[in-house]
Amino acid sequence: STISNHLPTAELQALDAAHHMHPFTTNDDLTAKGVRVIARAKGVYLTDTDGNEILDAMAGLWCVNLGYGRPEMGQVAARQMNELPYYNTFFQTTHVPGIALAKELADLAPGDLNHVFFAGSGSEANDTNLRMVRTYWAELGKPEKSHVISRKNAYHGSSMGSGSLGGMTYIHEQGGMPIPGIHHIGQPDWWSEGGDMTREDFGLARARELEEKILELGAENVAAFIGEPVQGAGGVIIPPSTYWPEIQRICRKHDVLLIADEVICGFGRTGNWFGAQTFDIIPDIMTVAKGLSSGYAPIGASIVNDKVAKVINACEFSHGYTYSGHPVCAAVALENLRIMHEENMLDHIRNVAAPALQNALSALEDHPLVGETARSGMMASIALTPHKESRAAFASPKGDVGYMCREHCFANNLVMRHVGDRMVISPPLVITPEEIEVFATRARKALDATY
Ligand code: PLP
Repeated sequence: STISNHLPTAELQALDAAHHMHPFTTNDDLTAKGVRVIARAKGVYLTDTDGNEILDAMAGLWCVNLGYGRPEMGQVAARQMNELPYYNTFFQTTHVPGIALAKELADLAPGDLNHVFFAGSGSEANDTNLRMVRTYWAELGKPEKSHVISRKNAYHGSSMGSGSLGGMTYIHEQGGMPIPGIHHIGQPDWWSEGGDMTREDFGLARARELEEKILELGAENVAAFIGEPVQGAGGVIIPPSTYWPEIQRICRKHDVLLIADEVICGFGRTGNWFGAQTFDIIPDIMTVAKGLSSGYAPIGASIVNDKVAKVINACEFSHGYTYSGHPVCAAVALENLRIMHEENMLDHIRNVAAPALQNALSALEDHPLVGETARSGMMASIALTPHKESRAAFASPKGDVGYMCREHCFANNLVMRHVGDRMVISPPLVITPEEIEVFATRARKALDATY
């Protein structure tokens, strides 16, 4: 192809507009505005085709945990491509990267989550989970135990199954979602919805909505509950400390499987290997993707406990993807985890990066637009508000001010996303205190420009 980084940006933009349909985008608006073309990246910085150096405080889409441009990752991928670029794991065959990654994930996962079913992405892994929990109960002679409960404003992917599990109404409005048998209860978002309650009471109240829903449907009809330990795409909603233990208690009481969607929270993001550990629960199934390979290769997985695997392994689970356990992606994921161990990434997060991020966020709290800042490990959010004390929302349609702030971030060479009027932050885990200072300076400029 003659299309390269060396073409003028305007030409690349025109070609992109002519042929490339972007996800979650009004493409016509993007064409009018001009898409930003990212040429290369190193560490926490992206470089666009105009030469701007942009600090990526989102790690791509919450995934490039190791930062960009790690040569070992490319070397491992090249080696695996030359040795065995592909083989399937369907029909009585396996391969070494698949075996090794399954073993590594079983070792890392809490409790007796010892079994791994691979997918190509988080959406695919959640589709796997939906079919797996229904198959589990059907195999036990309870096919009617098939309903799944999730939360409003959850994000679990955008395929038919995972998008239905998610609780975003603007996604449900397109293409016939949610599919039947999926129900959504309230989210543990104290800032926006907690009213006069204490955080702890609100956490318990929201968890008890699960019990009410189970009783309404009949426990004999409910297969599973799914939730992100910290909702990411929903705006980095950190649940009150009372929430998850109560959810786990209710699931166990009513024999409902508990699925933790760790696609963002997994692999260090909340300061532990998994968000479940941060919130002190042991789920039956965990969904992982993103940070599993630091986004260097597309791979996801369901990590399954002994109880569920025993039933699923005794039947033919007619499910899987051509790229389930893709050897190159598995090798890249293994290298990612090796580097995380070698560089003591959890220590870096807990002792260096998270305290520095907390300082930066605390310093921003004096800004008139900033209501609260919230953080779990290296995922954080800044709630924008016209009135701190009352936690008021802006009069303009939800998200206008956040959108404006996001635009000002971009103008200041900072990628910070907005979810409504919440700014969300999820930098590469390797980020240094000096880089966090750059983040804070650019974020303040963007807030000033928005105000
Ligand atoms: N689950 C969660 C919690 C996510 O944040 C995402 C993506 O953002 C997904 C699932 C879907 O993953 P993917 O985009 O790899 O399909």
